[in-house]
Amino acid sequence: MMHRIHLCVLVLLAATLSWPAAAVDNDNLFPVRVQLKWYHQFQFAGYYTALEKGFFREAGLDVTLIEGGPQIVPADQVLSGAAEFGVGTSALLIARSQGQPIVAVAAVFQHSPYILVTRDDPGIRTPRDLEGKSIMVEPNAEELFAYLSHIGVNLAAVKMVEHTGSPLDIFEGDFVGATAYTSNEPYILEKAGEPYRIFDPKQVGIDFYGDTLFTTEAFAEKHNDRVVAFRDALIRGWRYALQNREEIIDLIKNNYQIRADEDRLRFESDDIRRLLIPDLIEIGYMNPERWRQIAGDFRAAGLMAGDVDIEDFIFKPDITSGWVWVAYILLISIAVILVISVILAKFYALNRSLKAEIAKRSALETELKQLAITDHGTGVLNRRGFLEAAQREIDRANRHSSPISLLELDLDHFKQINDNYGHAAGDRALSMVADICEDINRSLDIIGRMGGEEFMILYPDSGIQGALNAAERILQSVSNKHLELDDGRTLTVTVSIGVVERQNSETMEAMMQRADQAMYAAKNRGRNLVCTVEDCVICSDESPQAR
Ligand code: GH3
Ligand code: MG
Ligand code: MG
Repeated sequence: MMHRIHLCVLVLLAATLSWPAAAVDNDNLFPVRVQLKWYHQFQFAGYYTALEKGFFREAGLDVTLIEGGPQIVPADQVLSGAAEFGVGTSALLIARSQGQPIVAVAAVFQHSPYILVTRDDPGIRTPRDLEGKSIMVEPNAEELFAYLSHIGVNLAAVKMVEHTGSPLDIFEGDFVGATAYTSNEPYILEKAGEPYRIFDPKQVGIDFYGDTLFTTEAFAEKHNDRVVAFRDALIRGWRYALQNREEIIDLIKNNYQIRADEDRLRFESDDIRRLLIPDLIEIGYMNPERWRQIAGDFRAAGLMAGDVDIEDFIFKPDITSGWVWVAYILLISIAVILVISVILAKFYALNRSLKAEIAKRSALETELKQLAITDHGTGVLNRRGFLEAAQREIDRANRHSSPISLLELDLDHFKQINDNYGHAAGDRALSMVADICEDINRSLDIIGRMGGEEFMILYPDSGIQGALNAAERILQSVSNKHLELDDGRTLTVTVSIGVVERQNSETMEAMMQRADQAMYAAKNRGRNLVCTVEDCVICSDESPQAR
């Protein structure tokens, strides 16, 4: 039985373990779209890698990456249903505070690459010099406003125009600066050979999360397991991309319409490694305390009025969702079944050995009891066994008012037999008499050796006549039997028998006394006789006093 249970458990376990593998069904991938926040470049290397290396597919997802640009607001795209995931900045917090149901899934860039670049004019020495001038601003650049506000720039005095997508435009015409990424624009500006300036929020301690993966509250709730799967595949993609930079640069260059050359991608990847700090921090990790700090900075800059519950803003994997939930229940059930079956098996084995032990003991006890009431020389009951059994019959006779008779038998001249033929011959004679008594009696009759060469037989449900009949047959049988001895001689014994029927509900003791009287009457009348108390009724053929 245990073997069968073990087999079942193994099969269940195998089914459980193969579950996730079975879920990777290429025909049944779940489609999701991701709104990137800028043009294709190394900034999204983790996404391309997870896609091209099949990490998303292994996670059961059919992923489409949607290129961004200066006019794209990823949060709007995701909230309008044009994409399931988006790549946003720390400004996602502001959207959330305005009631947009956005959930941050992973802070991929531990530090924001956001900076301001300006032309290197004598009139632009500090960010304050931007007051009264124009800069190009991309959507969701609020963290730069927080920075400017933090260092005392009057934001209302800075004219902000739509970003053209090219930092080189700051050298022409109307605007003097632009929002930019450390990973990107400095390379382009450097290449152009024009002098420029960088204003970096981190210089004054403003340190926001950079590119952050997000989705909607509804999607996170309905497809919690898919969000987890996406996040984990993305992190795997990023890890791979950072370890295999050249391979991934090639991959991006060959598979995507990019505006950059390989060198620029290399420059970008160096900066991104610095922002991800993958060696120190688990990729995508979000610290609620840091989000609170970012919220504080936005609030201080007057960019965020409402309150945000950071715990709700951060995505929480639901460990009881999807197959994880089923596998969980299954594993727990298996564990419970295992524990119960082990306990049952132990209990069963213990119970069995206990039962066997009890049976052994009771058999031993019965044997001991039997031994205690058996006469070993003859195999009939000993005195104690006979008296016990007889008492039970007396009690029964009392209840049913049934007759009961008693026979007492004593071997004649046994002392002489011992003397003449030896003790061993005497023993054989005793056994022979016992055997004859047993042969002649009914199964209900009780035979006991009362000591020495004296026997008693109790006849339940029997009047005196029944006992007398039995006595006569015993008398005849004994006297007709001739024991062949080892020394060639033949031994013949006789017995004297007294018989009584129970009178007036007398006790066993009283009945035995009267049986003794009857037996002695037989002795006195010459032995080899059957007598009642009143009279000798039967004698054998060889009896000296035949009737
Ligand atoms: P009676 O006819 O008057 O009964 O004479 P008896 O010799 O049989 O009577 P008694 O009571 O004087 O002697 C009984 C003898 O039985 C004494 C003893 O040696 C012998 N005896 C008692 N138990 C055993 C036994 O287990 N084996 C043998 N071989 N002899 C026994
Ligand atoms: Mg005797
Ligand atoms: Mg005797």
